[in-house]
Amino acid sequence: MESYGKNIMPCAACKLLRRRCTKDCIFLPYFPPCEPQKFAAVHRVFGASNISKMLRQEIPVHDRGDAAISLVYEATTRLKEPVYGCAGLISSLQMQILQLQSELNEALAETVTLKTQLANALSIIISSQEGYQLNHITEKNNYNLIDYQQLRECNINENASYTRLLDLPVTDSDLKHM
Ligand SMILES: [Zn+2]
Repeated sequence: MESYGKNIMPCAACKLLRRRCTKDCIFLPYFPPCEPQKFAAVHRVFGASNISKMLRQEIPVHDRGDAAISLVYEATTRLKEPVYGCAGLISSLQMQILQLQSELNEALAETVTLKTQLANALSIIISSQEGYQLNHITEKNNYNLIDYQQLRECNINENASYTRLLDLPVTDSDLKHM
């Protein structure tokens, strides 16, 4: 077991600052000795005394863990990006959000267009089906009408042929053969 009280295993801060670590050390809960690079980063960017003051005086106990994590993140980023630090990442992420928002808007607009095309296609299909049914009924009626007309025309022609026979002129030769 580690024994901070006996100063056998100092926290990362006290080890770096070469001072005696105690149970009351403000850095002890947030900067364990197994991750010395974290305190090294915040010490380099913010300074140990500022970190100590911030944690001890400005931040409630229940928020100090999150504060230490964010300080490490900010300090590490600042060391990697000396000009913009976290602001560079925030700006990059905001640009990504705008780009994705634009792509989302385009996708939504395309969805509306596709829905409209689908509705039109369905309307055409429904209209064609109704037209087919109507034509089918009309065709059946036309067939009946054609049958009737053909029958009627046949009767007329038959009557006409009788009429033509009766209308034939009678000549002298015809009378001789009768
Ligand atoms: Zn310590």
